[in-house]
Amino acid sequence: MEMFGTAKSLEAAIAAATPAPVSVIEGDIDRVTLQNFLKGIKTASLSNAVPFFLIGLCGLSLDNWQPLALIVLLAAAVLCTMWITAGKIQRDLETGDASRAIRLYQVLSVVSGGLWGAMMAPVAHTLGTNIESMFVCIVIIASAMITCVVCADQRRFALPFLAGLELVLVPVSLWHSDVIGLIPTIATLGLVPVALTLTNVVRTQTRLIVRTQLENELLADQLGIALKKAEFVANRDSLTGLLNRRAFEAAAEEMRLIGGNDAKLAIILVDLDHFKSINDSYGHPMGDEVLKSTATLIQEVTGPMSLIGRGDGAVARWGGEEFILLLSNCSLNHATETAELIRARLHRERPSYWPLDMSVSGSFGIADWSDDIGLHQAISMADQAMYSAKVGGRNRSCVFHEDGCLPVMQKKPEDMVQA
Ligand code: GH3
Ligand code: MG
Ligand code: MG
Repeated sequence: MEMFGTAKSLEAAIAAATPAPVSVIEGDIDRVTLQNFLKGIKTASLSNAVPFFLIGLCGLSLDNWQPLALIVLLAAAVLCTMWITAGKIQRDLETGDASRAIRLYQVLSVVSGGLWGAMMAPVAHTLGTNIESMFVCIVIIASAMITCVVCADQRRFALPFLAGLELVLVPVSLWHSDVIGLIPTIATLGLVPVALTLTNVVRTQTRLIVRTQLENELLADQLGIALKKAEFVANRDSLTGLLNRRAFEAAAEEMRLIGGNDAKLAIILVDLDHFKSINDSYGHPMGDEVLKSTATLIQEVTGPMSLIGRGDGAVARWGGEEFILLLSNCSLNHATETAELIRARLHRERPSYWPLDMSVSGSFGIADWSDDIGLHQAISMADQAMYSAKVGGRNRSCVFHEDGCLPVMQKKPEDMVQA
């Protein structure tokens, strides 16, 4: 949890807190479709056992069954290798370059297509006379089409498979054209445009679905960013970028809860002196500059680095020219030192563009926030101390005590420790 309000410009702070939104590009769709394909292909590969089994069963009716059995076994072995290669692509994608494994998968796709085509060779010459041969032919064509659909969104694998299939199937069909006839031979060649059309339709739909999914995820991210921005703006003072009153109260109650009864909490209330006359003499914009510089200074002094060993704190713009600090794990002495350091620097340090005769100072009220009083009671104590500082002459700090507020003795600048 970030407890400290920052005094940098609100726009810059919002930009730093919220990353710029991005849009869905083709590369994202490529990446997701490849990941989905690699996940799904393992199950799809297993389902090839069915056509292999059916072809093997039909092959038993052939006189010469050995060549078909050998091709089916080879196709199964290639499929296993593809299964392993798909796993390697997944692993390589995580570590960076998967191009070698992808190339291997493409080569295996060609070989696999070729083996499916080759299954036609042992049965082609009996196509007209043997019903089992006809069944083998149908299973080959159906399996090839299903493979093209499964690989549709990965053209780099679908096309090599189709090429391997046709490279073997076309010569086999032509070689046996006297047995199977002219029309089945032409149909074999016609597989290519059919497979390509099918592949394109499925690919377009798959990519559309993935794009929609990614855009939905992106919208959810952008909504998250918008909510974060809204939350950031709702908690900040728009001029100084510090926490606003509501966010400070919430942070204070939370620190009280976290710290429990043992938490040592101190409150410092700062009110700029004669601020109205700064506005009147140098203009409202210069008054705004003084408020911003004061916020930056307070943040510098109480920022996380300067509070090492004392835990968290919260800084807010409490009102017009009033600021409030809550320091946790901080004794009243440490709080007094912190207030004095801010007071001294506020009076001494001045940006070069400030008018030379413009004097800036603040009155500081310090109070202990013990466990048995509420936040607003503690703030009212700090307010009483701050009022004493005003009455005492301004540009000074006062500490609240039950029996009267005590002014803080001012040290020389060289005796001051960085709080
Ligand atoms: P004192 O020393 O008693 O505190 O006197 P003061 O003039 O600081 O106090 P006063 O309450 O009379 O005036 C506060 C002024 O702060 C009045 C108001 O116009 C100015 N102010 C409040 N908010 C802003 C702001 O956001 N920007 C600027 N420039 N001025 C502001
Ligand atoms: Mg005031
Ligand atoms: Mg004032």
